[in-house]
Amino acid sequence: MASINNKALFSAATKAMDYVSEVDDRTVAPSESAVRNLDIFEEDLPETGKDEVQTIDLLDRIGSPATMASTGGRYFGFVVGGTHPAALAANWLSSAWDQNAGLTATSPVSAAIEKVCERWITEILPVAKGSAVGFVTGVTMANFSALAAARSAILAKLEWDVETRGLTGAPQIKVVVGAEAHASLFKALRLLGMGTDHIIRVPGDENGCMRKDLLPVVNANTIVCLQAGNVNTGGMDDGRLVLEAKKYGAWVHIDGAFGLWTSASSSHRHLTTGYEYADSWATDGHKWLNVPYDSGVVICRRRDHLRKAMSVEGSYLDQPEERVPYKHTPELSRRARAIDIWATLRTLGKHGMDDLITRTCGFARQFAQHLSQAGFEILNEVTTNQVLVSFGSDSETLAVTRAIQADGTCWAGTTVWRGRVALRISVSSWKTTDNDVTKSIQAIIKCARMVSRKAA
Ligand SMILES: *Cc1c(COP(=O)(O)O)cnc(C)c1O
Repeated sequence: MASINNKALFSAATKAMDYVSEVDDRTVAPSESAVRNLDIFEEDLPETGKDEVQTIDLLDRIGSPATMASTGGRYFGFVVGGTHPAALAANWLSSAWDQNAGLTATSPVSAAIEKVCERWITEILPVAKGSAVGFVTGVTMANFSALAAARSAILAKLEWDVETRGLTGAPQIKVVVGAEAHASLFKALRLLGMGTDHIIRVPGDENGCMRKDLLPVVNANTIVCLQAGNVNTGGMDDGRLVLEAKKYGAWVHIDGAFGLWTSASSSHRHLTTGYEYADSWATDGHKWLNVPYDSGVVICRRRDHLRKAMSVEGSYLDQPEERVPYKHTPELSRRARAIDIWATLRTLGKHGMDDLITRTCGFARQFAQHLSQAGFEILNEVTTNQVLVSFGSDSETLAVTRAIQADGTCWAGTTVWRGRVALRISVSSWKTTDNDVTKSIQAIIKCARMVSRKAA
């Protein structure tokens, strides 16, 4: 039995390594035939189990070609990072350990690494020293966790214990967000029972950042949600808004799914000045940090605030120590996802992180410069890693995007920015090289010319 297991593991490891080394040699989007072949998975649940080596074979033969090559160097869709080899390798080993990261008792190693990771994250990100960090699935859950802490702390000050009394009859909390707040923030508020009707939206500037002059009257019963990194433009809300809102006692939360990492870049760090005065922050590991899915991080200035919101009672759960993993997240049992983050930060170090963020921002500027020189319109001010391109009318931009996706040299999707369809290029992968950018720019220009020739 044991040797059969090893065969499947060896086979999976070999196939995974082949995938990683060949991912840049194929089209970025899977071929139509590869997607059609997914029908082969439509089997009946077997009466008698199949051989596991054969199962891995099937997964690789049919599954691998039908992946989006988002771990390669020329995937610029959504805001999706690749996977740094250190993170992937650590992920493999820790998957073999199969640790339940919820308690120190179930995984001493994960608890120890979470503690180190907490310290490193609060050092490299623009957050308060000594903050508490929880390891969750993504920013949707990180926003949820931070807003739960905010809700709990604000209501506690009003002598309303939301954990026991719930929200019915509770004092109203005012929520202020930017006009360009991410959809997941609203979902988090809905899940928290706070609804979306009472949310005040502050208009944004040209790059979708909150207008500093339009911040409404806030008080100690207010949560102000700022954004570090607009999903379209990459724009970063002005950190001066933090102290402005804090002056009146508001709780300031920053959704920095990718943008929070700009603090790792010596040339972009200034964009995050003032963020450290906020009360809570949310960021992703699976975007710009390039760790495998899924990985999000909630950060809270006061550990007791996060702990109160995330506490769970159980006679068998009691642990005396300060940093109890499950008291920092909504989940109890969960995978040891901090290990992937730890391995990446340890491998890159501060210099490697600086290089990753600075380099990808430079590539975004390169895209903007070359495409603009070629006669196409850049719709955003490129301050971080996002570029919005128009190729003329909405239908022209859509046609060019379809051509780019079919060409397969690179992949990017569309968005609508200020009423106009745009190609959205996000440079978030550690793997992207100068050559990848040059090749992609050439392919984009070629596709745009081809579409305009056809239309003429
Ligand atoms: C991606 C993103 C989110 C959602 O994060 P998930 O990890 O997909 O849950 C929220 N806010 C911003 C600004 C984002 O870019």
